[in-house]
Amino acid sequence: FAALRAADPEIADVVLGELTRVRSGLQLIASENLTSPAVLAALGSTLTNKYAEGYPGHRYYGGCGEVDRAETLGIERAKALFGAEHANLQPHSGAGANLAAYAALLVPGDRVLAMDLPHGGHLTHGSRVNFSGKWFETVGYRVSPDDELIDYDEVRSLAVSHRPKMIICGATAYPRLIDFARFREIADEVGAYLVVDAAHFIGLVAGGAIPSPVPYADVVTATTHKVLRGPRGGMILCTADLAARVDRAVFPFTQGGPLMHAVAAKAVALREASTPIFGEYARQVVANARALATGLAAEGMRPVSGGTDTHLALIDLRSLGVTGRAAEERCDLARITLNKNAIPYDPETPMTASGIRVGTPSVTTQGLKEAEMAHVARLIARAVRADPDTPAGRIELGDVASEVTDLVNAFPAYPVLVP
Ligand code: PLP
Repeated sequence: FAALRAADPEIADVVLGELTRVRSGLQLIASENLTSPAVLAALGSTLTNKYAEGYPGHRYYGGCGEVDRAETLGIERAKALFGAEHANLQPHSGAGANLAAYAALLVPGDRVLAMDLPHGGHLTHGSRVNFSGKWFETVGYRVSPDDELIDYDEVRSLAVSHRPKMIICGATAYPRLIDFARFREIADEVGAYLVVDAAHFIGLVAGGAIPSPVPYADVVTATTHKVLRGPRGGMILCTADLAARVDRAVFPFTQGGPLMHAVAAKAVALREASTPIFGEYARQVVANARALATGLAAEGMRPVSGGTDTHLALIDLRSLGVTGRAAEERCDLARITLNKNAIPYDPETPMTASGIRVGTPSVTTQGLKEAEMAHVARLIARAVRADPDTPAGRIELGDVASEVTDLVNAFPAYPVLVP
């Protein structure tokens, strides 16, 4: 950091400012986490310099002996941790991993059955503004309006009538477990590939806190930076018979040189995720999300589907008469970082939204437990109800912000990093 401060004080100031922001507030974005100092060290290493197009033992550049060791360790750790026949750690992101999965299994124009975006799916699951919606024909499935759970009967009847070549499940804002066996059954019935986008929950799988999609899916795509607590990036697991197609779809089809510092950092995170302590962490993430959802429900904020089985809860704010956007802004003023989110059958536009999404990966890394979650729920409820356009609301948001700081000061983020 001293070198950065000397060479570029402006960017050094940003790095410090971000550390201060994280330390002084509650981080409840469901897709974020706080990586370990070991992961940060690998990311900030000279491995960023190395060109290594290709795969271990088959590179287009010399001098790849050391990075080969890092990537091989990472691949072996991923295979062992998830019981997968093959792993590719090179995707630069979750979206890139999904692009490669489509490229490995489909040609443009093929039909895909995927979860609708407003029901919890991701942009890469067929949105019209994304490659998936532009280059592929997508049929969307939804959650049931009654219980807000995936309607597997609808998934099956859409699969039978549209005969997709690929079915994708896994979501961005779905708080419940997904029945992978049921998806496999439906895919087999219509002869489709099954891709599970485990971006959000692969870390819970690693820690044994929820069931694994690996035995059921042809391809599992994931990010490495969410509950898994690694560097920002992607990963693909697949069966041995698809290994060559997946590898070629990542490089040379959709990417050039891999980011070897990130690949090494993924290997570090996978080692950390293989320890019993990570299993305890993953279980605590879920216990905390449940406690947070219960606490918010007690404050009159309805969890979509009635609760959560994972690291996140989706909260319907309509009964409070506050939009998701207003709630996000108010929480920001109270140093609580979360995001507005569409809820199923949302009457509002996505930029306004009727809900918020809260997640517990970061606060659990800091050491908060169920008792603190009840407190966090009360703080969120106070912030959401405080109107910053009124003097009383501004005072309340200031009070909540100082309680937030008191709470997080007892659980400091990155205690080993100075300053
Ligand atoms: N897939 C799902 C289900 C996601 O939630 C996300 C990101 O949140 C992605 C893919 C994309 O990941 P990335 O932002 O790394 O491209």
